[in-house]
Amino acid sequence: MSGTNQKIDAARLWDSLMAMASIGATPKGGVKRLTLTEVDRQGRDRFAGWCAEAGLTLRVDAIGNMFARRPGRDPKRLPVLFGSHLDSQPSGGKFDGALGVMAGLEVIRSLNDLNIETEAPIELINWTDEEGSRFGHSLMGSGVWAGVFAEAYAYGLRATEGVTGEAALAAIGYRGTHPAEPFAADAYFELHIEQGPILEAEGQAIGIVTGAQAMIWWDAVLEGQDSHAGTTPPAARRDALLGAARIIELVDRLMRARGQDGRGTVGYLSVAPNSRNVIPGEVRFSVEFRHPDTEEILRLAAEFPQLAQHIADALRLGLRLTELFRIQAQPFDPGCVALVRQAAARLGLPAREIVSGAGHDAVYVARHVPTAMIFCPCKDGLSHNEAESIEPHEAAAGCQVLFEAVVARANRAL
Ligand SMILES: [Zn+2]
Repeated sequence: MSGTNQKIDAARLWDSLMAMASIGATPKGGVKRLTLTEVDRQGRDRFAGWCAEAGLTLRVDAIGNMFARRPGRDPKRLPVLFGSHLDSQPSGGKFDGALGVMAGLEVIRSLNDLNIETEAPIELINWTDEEGSRFGHSLMGSGVWAGVFAEAYAYGLRATEGVTGEAALAAIGYRGTHPAEPFAADAYFELHIEQGPILEAEGQAIGIVTGAQAMIWWDAVLEGQDSHAGTTPPAARRDALLGAARIIELVDRLMRARGQDGRGTVGYLSVAPNSRNVIPGEVRFSVEFRHPDTEEILRLAAEFPQLAQHIADALRLGLRLTELFRIQAQPFDPGCVALVRQAAARLGLPAREIVSGAGHDAVYVARHVPTAMIFCPCKDGLSHNEAESIEPHEAAAGCQVLFEAVVARANRAL
């Protein structure tokens, strides 16, 4: 068991975060470190250098995931994993992903300073392409590792400028020799900013993440008839945009019927012909729902298309709904979640349980390894934005909880 007298170095953690943020720094104070670019290579090289200084052994797998290992006293024990991602959105912030990796590094540096040898080996991970902003597919590194999609598929994805994932990996020297596949591990912990407003609003220092929510996504097309805005009387109108407006209302109503846990969004809308004096004949839009309970998403999968069809029929519109995907809720491991809860309690940090609203590498890792996540508050819940911000003491609190959870797990009685 670790003790609360063993403190991480908050100033060193902050310095590392700022040093990493200087790689790909944007004029507005954010970060642009797109995956598998020259800037990403610089970030990875810096990280690899720090890992070497900390005495870690680095290996890179075929999709560019980086694993930095610190041996344990008992080499037969399975490693305790932790980490996150160093890539960012095009106009991203300093902390999304980088916090989890730099905090992991600080955990290792603190163990070195304190001369603590854990029973189990521990491994710090930088997952490739969490953000999906360059190749159009998020969670690429952890997804290939977890077997969610094939390595060949990821290799074949093309960036907007045409280069394939495989060529981009090779170009920056991070197409590793180790197979990208799950290996036996004792646990995985990931510290991440919340990317939402709940912890800050409630004055909580720590989110004890119990799992990730289920979701379902559709593409929708409503077809009516383009006609003259001035000459077409009410009975003759087949207004696709009116249909979309009513379906947007429906999405909101179905969400609110599910209370605080419901999420329902139409975030994309394209109107044709999009002209001031033409009744819109076609509207394309997105629909998505999320909920911590898979059953609720299954209910929505049956309920929403029917109700949307009623709306379309009443307006004499054609409706095409294409389901893009549905993902089950991914509960995290109760034992690992308990370690996060106990760490926050022992440190006297205000904490609450929370379900992750965003996708994270941890969600795919959890399919193979007992997993938990730790959330830190971020200012105004803002993320994927250059103004994304956290306070040094918030980063330190999250890192200390990560330290406690990792050490407790690595030293647990078997
Ligand atoms: Zn992230």
